[in-house]
This record gives sequence, structure tokens and C-alpha cells, in this order.
Amino acid sequence: MTAHILDGNALSASVRGQLAEDAAALTARGVQPCLAVILVGADPASAVYVRNKVAACEKAGIRSLRFDYPQDADPDTVLARIAELNADPSVHGILVQLPLPPQFDEAAVLEAISVTKDVDGFHAENVGRLSQGQEAFFPCTPHGVMKMLEAAEVPVKGAHAVVIGRSNIVGKPMAMLLLRAGATVTVCHSQTRDLAEHTRRADILVAAVGRPGFVTGDMVRPGAAVIDVGINRLKEGPNAGKLCGDVDFESVRKVAGVLTPVPGGVGPMTITMLLANTVESARRAARAQGV
Ligand code: NAD
Repeated sequence: MTAHILDGNALSASVRGQLAEDAAALTARGVQPCLAVILVGADPASAVYVRNKVAACEKAGIRSLRFDYPQDADPDTVLARIAELNADPSVHGILVQLPLPPQFDEAAVLEAISVTKDVDGFHAENVGRLSQGQEAFFPCTPHGVMKMLEAAEVPVKGAHAVVIGRSNIVGKPMAMLLLRAGATVTVCHSQTRDLAEHTRRADILVAAVGRPGFVTGDMVRPGAAVIDVGINRLKEGPNAGKLCGDVDFESVRKVAGVLTPVPGGVGPMTITMLLANTVESARRAARAQGV
């Protein structure tokens, strides 16, 4: 078997095309979707992510505001900016790029963002709403994975899904979304014994570990849908400097039924779902204003 490779760039382009239309329609009604992005410090990876998010907004007709602070910024200054953005009715989404420097209490910063503008879906109330099956902003990466499964017509209801990783930004919300969609979910992590015993029983296997080539073909059930969330930059070897996922692409593609590549898989869908959440937030604001 050779896996069907899911093209995250193509899906992303089509979803972003629809979002641009939605944004234009809202703008015509006087509510242009607007995302505020806060970056603290000079971490090069964070700077690239922020630049890409702002560029994607512009391309989709979403207004973006960017606020940069130095590495030694006073947390109170950033919290004051968040309070200002919370109160500004023209702003629909607020994103604080993580990680934050050590003087910040990350959880407190995320909690300071208004739940109605928390387009990253990291606020504890949104997390609770997600787990209770209520309307919520879903974290962008796992939300993007769900869209990819849907687009590839991978059945989720009744499937056995195995998620490797239990972080707050990927693993845990991924498990919640799969559960919400009717899967039977196993969450594996660094303390899991006999990992391959679990992964081999997965109809859907999501890898969010942060280790290059961690999932190999012998860990995968024939025909399974394998979603590679990992983004790792290789430090050595002939491919040094290149990006690769948590899945050993060559061995897994021979076994899986469906597989996402890195790059060009889940990555582009993450920013797409951020745009989707921002447009949705603007739609809710327009509805509340009766326009
Ligand atoms: P993290 O370091 O917070 O979490 C990694 C998880 O892997 C942990 O829960 C840990 O328990 C688990 N783990 C570690 N070693 C393990 C082992 N030997 N066996 C089983 N589980 C093990 O990382 P994260 O923030 O969740 O990110 C995971 C990966 O996804 C990274 O490569 C990151 O760059 C990538 N990522 C990609 C996107 C995207 O847009 N595609 C977004 C966020 C993160």
C-alpha cells in the first residue's frame, strides 16, 4: 500500500479563498475582521510565525495590528495593551505569540485575553467549553487537523484515534476534538509504556511529539490515517537545516492509508484556522451589533 498524501497547501488555499470572501462581505457591512498580534522578545522562530500570520491576514482582507515588545518587557505593560485591545470593538482577535520570556506568567497572560477574542483558543474558559461540547474557539493546530480529516473523508465517528503528545496547545485539545467528533481516543505521552502497542491499534494516529522521524512504519496499522503535526529542524546529516515531521515519511507511507507531509501538511492549516477563528469572531460581533 502507498498512502494517499494530503496536500495541506491546497486545502489551505481553498479554505483561505472562502475566508477572504467572508471577510470582504463583513467589511462591506462595516465590520472588517481584525486580528491583533503581540510579540515579546526576539526569538527568530516566533518572529517568523508572527510575520506569516500578519501576511496571511493581509492576503485574506483581514486587518492586522502588530505590537512588538523587547525581551525584558514589563508584563504589566503587555497586560495593559491586552486590556486596551479587549475594550476596542474594532478588534476581533488577540493573539500573544508563545513562548513568553521568563518574567511572564504565561497562563495569566492568556487568561487576560477576553474569551470572545481568544482566537488561539488557549483561554481556560475556551478549553472548558471545548471539553463540554459548547461553542468555543478551537486551538488552531488541532482544528486544522480535523479539517484535514474531514476533507480527506476519513471517518472519525467510532474510529480509534491515538494521539501522541499531551501538550496544552496540540495533544490535549486534539484528543478533545476527536472525542467530540465521536472517536474513541487514547492519549500517549512520554510516560506511556509499550507505545507501539497503542499506535498499532490506531485507525487515526496523530503525532505531536517534537522528535524527527519518531513514528516509524512498524508502529502503524496498515491503512491508518497518519497525521504528522511535528515541525523539527534537522541539526545534522545530509538534510541539516531542513524541516521534517515526527513521522518517518518513507517507512510510514508504505503502510498508512492517508498521510500528511512536512512541510506542506498540518502547518499551513494552523494559520488558516487562525484566520477562520478571527472571521468567526467578527461575524459574532456583527451579529451582536445587528449588522
Ligand atoms: P511539547 O514539547 O509541548 O509536547 C510534546 C509531547 O510529546 C509531550 O506531551 C510529551 O509527553 C510527548 N512525548 C515526548 N517524548 C515522548 C515519547 N518518547 N513517547 C511518547 N510521547 C512523548 O510539544 P508541542 O508544543 O505539543 O509540539 C509538538 C510538535 O508539534 C513539535 O514538533 C512542534 O514544533 C509541532 N507543532 C506544530 C504546529 C503546526 O502548526 N504544525 C503547531 C504547534 C506545534
